[in-house]
Amino acid sequence: MNETGLSEEEILSLLNDAKTKDFSYDRVLSSMCTAPHRIAVKAHMQFIESNMGDFGLFRGTHEMEKEVIRMTGNMLHCPFTEGYLTTGGTESNIQAVRSMRNLHERKHSGSRLNVVVPISAHFSFDKVSDILDIDVRKAPLDSDLKVSIEAMRSLIDENTVGLVAVAGSTEFGQVDPIRKISELALEKVLPLHIDAAFGGFVLPFLEQEHVFDFSLPGVTSIAIDPHKMGLSTIPSGILLFREFKHLRCLKAHTPYLTVDSQYTMTGTRSGAAVAATFAVMKFLGKEGYTETVSKCMEMTRYLLRKAAEIGVEPVIDPVINVVALKVPEPAVMRATLSREYNWHVSITQDPKALRLVIMPHMSCEMIDMFMADLTKVLGPVSSSKSEQKWENEQK
Ligand SMILES: *Cc1c(COP(=O)(O)O)cnc(C)c1O
Repeated sequence: MNETGLSEEEILSLLNDAKTKDFSYDRVLSSMCTAPHRIAVKAHMQFIESNMGDFGLFRGTHEMEKEVIRMTGNMLHCPFTEGYLTTGGTESNIQAVRSMRNLHERKHSGSRLNVVVPISAHFSFDKVSDILDIDVRKAPLDSDLKVSIEAMRSLIDENTVGLVAVAGSTEFGQVDPIRKISELALEKVLPLHIDAAFGGFVLPFLEQEHVFDFSLPGVTSIAIDPHKMGLSTIPSGILLFREFKHLRCLKAHTPYLTVDSQYTMTGTRSGAAVAATFAVMKFLGKEGYTETVSKCMEMTRYLLRKAAEIGVEPVIDPVINVVALKVPEPAVMRATLSREYNWHVSITQDPKALRLVIMPHMSCEMIDMFMADLTKVLGPVSSSKSEQKWENEQK
């Protein structure tokens, strides 16, 4: 650390230097986050010092948190839901599985516990496995990239603490057959966690109805992230439980705070993110989110039409605003797009494809510019050949 403090001007200059090295969202097609809504930024700044780790001191912020939980519970068809604002999908997933494990009756003590998830589940479940020291059993997918129910069923045994399904997978944006998984959970008397970290602020606002939430009786918890399609600031995640018993088993005593216990994973917790999420949800309402989602879906369809014109097809017909394109050698293409054209895209693992997330910071003009560069990168690989080449590489 420097011996004496720098001047404000020096600091601002250092900050500006760092800022120029960050990529601007207008070159980013790979991120599930986006520029937060201005009202969220305003609220975040106003509550910058608020600590939800000791919410007895910040009662106004705590009331906003309860209102966010109430609004989200209503949106996801469980008006009396219990939960709190997390740092994001990762923490929500860890806590959901921790709750399952704590509630599990250890009839077969000594043997290792497990949780059954789709193989398409987010990498946070690998952290879950390590942190909670339980096996994460990964069920394979059907050809449409939804988890196979029969595979899930066959992985369940007496050491299974619960099931997980994904509503809007990170790589392909696919929604698992959650109605059937809910039935399986009820039949096996297991809790079911829905990872809707990304899809939670998309699916309720689509024209096409997707049933993925607490309206299904087997669903016991949901992860949904305001800092993705909710347009709030980072770090904003929400973890919801259908019943208090799922939260109660996460309780820790906090002897020297204004409140004597907490259920959260972190101690000190951002009240700014609570205020931001409260503000943007109230400001946009269902109407505002529907508009945002419609715009992203229109851009998604626009991108697909442009891709089709150069003979590039998606791996699945997009359900939400996540697109995986069948291009030859996606990893090479990604590197070239970044190095030579300053576009930031990502790739999927299985099958390998070029992955794009069509976020609110994008526009049709941005898509046009990107497609023009993608056409150059694809080069002489003309129309129909692109898909053929891709098919051959998958073998
Ligand atoms: C983004 C994402 C996560 C992880 O959320 P973080 O906020 O990055 O911790 C988990 N699950 C799904 C499906 C996601 O898309």
